[in-house]
Amino acid sequence: MEERSKHTYQTLLYQFAKNILVVCPQCLEQAIVHTGDFEALKKSQYDIKVVCTSCGYNKTLEKISPRQEPKQKRGNVLIFGGPIDPFFHLPVWLQADFSGQTLWAYNLEHLEFLAEHIGAKLRERNTSPRMSRSIGARLPRWMTAADKREAVLKAIEKLKGK
Ligand SMILES: [Zn+2]
Repeated sequence: MEERSKHTYQTLLYQFAKNILVVCPQCLEQAIVHTGDFEALKKSQYDIKVVCTSCGYNKTLEKISPRQEPKQKRGNVLIFGGPIDPFFHLPVWLQADFSGQTLWAYNLEHLEFLAEHIGAKLRERNTSPRMSRSIGARLPRWMTAADKREAVLKAIEKLKGK
């Protein structure tokens, strides 16, 4: 059961990992990491690139094999689960400090998802236990703690306007 819900949250992160908003390494404005369809990534049909419309910075990721040993080549490791894009490891644009924790999302869709889920936790009585378990179990506790939810929701709303 534990393994299963872990897998569920990983899958969710993959789903949101397209058109990731990041900080441009050149001008510090908002840039976008285009990833295309993640299903395609699995077949090594990558066309992953980071593009900044402010300064024109753009870079295409070298093709990487999903089976490649992580230590073989620096910079080509996929990282999921932190406030950086999984491919170029640039800081995500949508992040904010929240009581010493980092609130972050890959894009507005992801942010919307977090807001909906935490909102649902606020209305827990109306949520089926099955749904709470599948996603909520994988969100950090500081985000879903009963006394923090409203403040987290406010912080998410603020991030949306960034
Ligand atoms: Zn730029």
